[in-house]
Amino acid sequence: MLRNCKGFIATFSQGFGADVKILVMRRGMGLFTLGAAFAAATLAFAQPIPSPKPADDPIARLMRTGEASLRPSQDRATLPVILGVQIIDYADRTRIMIEVSDPLSLRVFTLAGPNRVVMDMKQVLWRLQGSAPPSAHSAVKSFRYGLFRPGNSRFVIDLNRAVTVTTPVALAPSQGYGYRIVVDLLPTTQNRFTVASGWPADLKAREVAAERKSSDTARHQARAAGNKKIIVLDAGHGGIDTGTSGVTGLQEKDLVLDMAKRVRKALQSRGGYSVYLTRDDDTYVALGQRVRIARSYAADLFVSIHADSNPQSSVYGASVYTLSESGSDKEAAALAAKENQSDIIAGVDLSNQDTPVASILIDLAQRDTMNRSSRFAETAVAEMRRATDILPRQPHRSAAFAVLKAPDVPAVLIELGYLSHAGDARQMGTTAWRDGVAEAIARAIDRNFSATRRSISEASDDSP
Ligand code: ZN
Repeated sequence: MLRNCKGFIATFSQGFGADVKILVMRRGMGLFTLGAAFAAATLAFAQPIPSPKPADDPIARLMRTGEASLRPSQDRATLPVILGVQIIDYADRTRIMIEVSDPLSLRVFTLAGPNRVVMDMKQVLWRLQGSAPPSAHSAVKSFRYGLFRPGNSRFVIDLNRAVTVTTPVALAPSQGYGYRIVVDLLPTTQNRFTVASGWPADLKAREVAAERKSSDTARHQARAAGNKKIIVLDAGHGGIDTGTSGVTGLQEKDLVLDMAKRVRKALQSRGGYSVYLTRDDDTYVALGQRVRIARSYAADLFVSIHADSNPQSSVYGASVYTLSESGSDKEAAALAAKENQSDIIAGVDLSNQDTPVASILIDLAQRDTMNRSSRFAETAVAEMRRATDILPRQPHRSAAFAVLKAPDVPAVLIELGYLSHAGDARQMGTTAWRDGVAEAIARAIDRNFSATRRSISEASDDSP
């Protein structure tokens, strides 16, 4: 049973025509029991408990009875709900137990650099209550979950050490629990882990097909744009990657999506622009894909929108970043490193890519793009200064942001402010502030292109 996990599928099954009332009761009880279970898990973190005895180990029991071997039900109108996740540390293993309202197929694989476990599944709803963070001796460093693509959710675990993942085992509802999927993480060597890691081939093919489709759509729409300026607005993060979160509970991914839509509206009301968003809902888009979208549209300008946080809660104000190899300063380099984590957070396999994070070689042709990016950044700072607080010291900075590396598309990354600053976070939660700043960004874009138009017409006026 303890096989290499790559590409295994756990399949649940139970007759699904079961009495709905009973199912609902079980869910309620499941939630209740879960609270107690989390408490138990917390205790377990504090003190490793010995491996379960075969007699009381539910998995061992199931393996004997062969209880969980049916197929998931098809065509359910509602999405399955993840009701809870328990992480339990035994002396020889870490156990992940996921409780779910309905049978669910789960795809489990590992990724190296950094070491992660990814559980890929069809789209689900997450109804997890807060759980205790894993202890220092757990194989699990941290975990997160959310939408990866429309129709496809993910649970991603960051590991403290290399593990082998057992084949997922499905447990039918019992003792007040809903359906459960159980996976054990057993210690292994880093070498073995690395060899076994990587996206399964069919998943990779699915991603390539999805990316190709979105690039084709982009090219088609760009051709239809005529002589309008093409602006690509990039709401950072999304789905499983929430970005930073504020003192008010506001999440970066939600704020920046709303802002991208407001900037789009402000530009559309001006006319003369074809505006595209890299995402217009709460899904994840890989960093490389954001760059490819900008290039597929042959964008005249790419604006990535983010919000920052800082351990020092007094730091405030908006700032604008452009691409550079070395970075204008230490803080900018650290920020780029943080924003470049996005693919790692979402469980993207970087092993075979020319990783955008590793190095960004800037050639001569890119210098012109970078100059145009810098000019726009200055305009953006000037316009945003009229609408909000600006980082007091050096609001235009540069660093090696992966999302800004298209060689032929002028690109900036705007940090709207600090969600870690009480004043910034409060105003970022208001419609008035959002409209004001979106208008300022649109004004900056307008000024940028009217300046270009002016310089072109002046150049043609001078010609004999
Ligand atoms: Zn961000």
